[in-house]
Amino acid sequence: TEIVSPGVSLSNNYLEQGKNNYLASIVFGKKEIAISILDFSTGEFFGYSINSKNLKNTINQYGINELIVSDSQYREYKELLDSMNIMISKVENWYLDVKIASDYLKEHFKVHSLKGFGIDDKPLLIKSAAFAINYVNNNYNKKTHHITSYKKKTTDNYMILDSYTIKNLEIFESLSSGDKKGTLINVLDRTVSAGGSRLLKKWILQPLTKIEDINKRLDRVEEFLCNSNIRNSIIELINDCSDIERIVSKISANKSNPREILSLAHSINILDSIKNQICSKKLKNNKELLESVKDISSITNKILSTIDEDAPSNYLKGGFIKDNINEDLDEYRKVSTDGTQWLVDYQKDIELKTKINKIKIGYNRVFGYYIEVSKGSVSKVPDYFIRKQTLANAERYFTEELKEYENKILNAQENIVSIELDILSDLRIEILTKIKDIIYNAKIISMIDVATSISKISEKRNYVRPNLNNKKSLFMEGARHPVIEHLLSIEDDFIDNTLDVSKDKKQVSIITGPNMSGKSTFLRQVGIIVILAQSGCYVPCQKAQISIIDRLFTRVGASDNLSSGESTFLVEMNETANILNNLTNRSLILLDEIGRGTSTYDGLSIAWSITEYLHNSKYLPITLFATHYHELIDLANKLDRANNYSVDVKEHNEDVIFLRKIIKGGTNKSYGIHVAKMAGIPNNVLKRASEILNNLSKDNLSSNFESINSQNTNEKENTTINNEIVERLKLIDVNNITPFEALIKLNELVDDIN
Ligand code: ADP
Repeated sequence: TEIVSPGVSLSNNYLEQGKNNYLASIVFGKKEIAISILDFSTGEFFGYSINSKNLKNTINQYGINELIVSDSQYREYKELLDSMNIMISKVENWYLDVKIASDYLKEHFKVHSLKGFGIDDKPLLIKSAAFAINYVNNNYNKKTHHITSYKKKTTDNYMILDSYTIKNLEIFESLSSGDKKGTLINVLDRTVSAGGSRLLKKWILQPLTKIEDINKRLDRVEEFLCNSNIRNSIIELINDCSDIERIVSKISANKSNPREILSLAHSINILDSIKNQICSKKLKNNKELLESVKDISSITNKILSTIDEDAPSNYLKGGFIKDNINEDLDEYRKVSTDGTQWLVDYQKDIELKTKINKIKIGYNRVFGYYIEVSKGSVSKVPDYFIRKQTLANAERYFTEELKEYENKILNAQENIVSIELDILSDLRIEILTKIKDIIYNAKIISMIDVATSISKISEKRNYVRPNLNNKKSLFMEGARHPVIEHLLSIEDDFIDNTLDVSKDKKQVSIITGPNMSGKSTFLRQVGIIVILAQSGCYVPCQKAQISIIDRLFTRVGASDNLSSGESTFLVEMNETANILNNLTNRSLILLDEIGRGTSTYDGLSIAWSITEYLHNSKYLPITLFATHYHELIDLANKLDRANNYSVDVKEHNEDVIFLRKIIKGGTNKSYGIHVAKMAGIPNNVLKRASEILNNLSKDNLSSNFESINSQNTNEKENTTINNEIVERLKLIDVNNITPFEALIKLNELVDDIN
């Protein structure tokens, strides 16, 4: 019996091509949670420690489908776990003993120590890894050979992208439609293999922080850009590649068919052809990568020489092993094929002997082989025909000779199938001995696929190689938003912009400008370009010098999360709190409209103090803040390392034209009424709005924001009224009041407040 669950499935119907299917097992410690993440369909297995606040983030980041936790810890942390909205599978507690868990893992990986995985001194991780393996072993009857190693991830080597950022920058899913259209990955992914597509997503999800590692990836992309003919031939080769990792998992779970095993061998052999293409010195870095490919020709040759190219898809009836592999098999096949000729000869023979015309020899599952004679010829049937079945127009018979033949043939068929399946099973076991090397080679194919894919899109869209440094500054000349640029039609060209900021002088940039002028787009493009650069991709700029960012925070657009009971403003504050509490030395912060979801003064106060906090933080995070609060222009003028920018707008008669250019200096015009006009709001409404705006401007509502600091008198007055109302409410005896009296009381209270 196998138990299939969301995190443990090998079915093509369930798994999405080019996307990982992760399950995670967690063990709670005093301060942290150890999490081990496994893709059973590919064998990828890794883990690290996280803060319990980040559990939801991690689940979203990897799109984890199932969480494994011990019975006792589930009870202890039930509230937190239930709030994750994910399938939770509970396992027995005995793995909470680290010795048992460690022995279990050593036995699974066939190693003497867990040092090689970097977890020998990490009891929580050992336990969580053991939970995961134990879970899939139980559910899949120990068919877990393809899980050959465990990688302890350190967050040091990767930029941290929280789930808000991944969502806000629309990397994998569009905010509006929830699908892939309009996302970064949709524009970027030109990979041709499922493994390549998964790898590219992983790279985007975990941008690197070590410059050498990033440059290694970029070098390979550059080589393909400079040698596009070679690149295109390689893409064609990889195009024929099957999903090696998933086939290997199926082989491990004994669910693979001969055709898949054959395609595994063909796919691995593609590496030889790729090597031939890359022999040129011009592709030094790719050549070096390919030189590390493991030699597994013994196993691929064996597969190719054993399995028939024309193996049927329903292999349970045999016919998939080549001739000359097994003598017994050849012998039975001979009986079986010669047998058909025997039947033809036998039919002719009895026709001749009995002088019956049109004798038919057939086979059916219930009665076996039979001789069919039409009713009209029954009188000619000899004695040695034994009646088997009567039909409307015919009689069916058998003979001793035919029975003997039937036994021989049927046994031969059974024997053929059984020998073929035995050969397949031996082959599978042999493949499993090389599983680590096969997975390694598959990864190389995926890496080449990703590098060619990046080079292809970079060529098509004029992306450039980013220059990476540790100076704590960002310079992006002629930068574009890769998705919006892609979506715009040619006449409606995307306007590029330049960003030039650094920790010393331009740490905080306040960007003002009307709605729809392009502020969000600018902010998002900065985030996307940093992610692309550190993932090893070229970037949509004319020139880019990027300092390594270790944590990218975004707060873009108000997203209602009403299904989980959070209002727009609360969502906004949750996201902001996450930023302020987790700043690092190399953070990049992109804030779009903070404080919009509440009243003007509330919102402005929050935006103001957040800007001050970020500016004064010892981490000096590079911050871009797009806002419609013009008051913040003054703030930027006051703070040492803050600058004002705005989006340029041209006024033409009564209309405005958004030039989409980011320029120095702030703007205090919102052009809201102009935007309303563009949207088609009726003229009389617009006219009235202009009148109201004029009156409000005369009152100068927002002119002296700093007076908010002295609003204590107002607050005191409010508190006195509140206390009074509370006292009066307390006096009401709810059990002894009629609904009508209650209404009168309510009315009085409302009157008094007003
Ligand atoms: P804001 O944040 O100022 O309200 P957005 O960034 O949402 O404005 O931009 C509104 C629309 O303007 C975008 O959907 C896009 O179609 C267009 N747009 C934004 N920036 C540019 C640009 N640089 N070039 C061309 N069109 C742009």
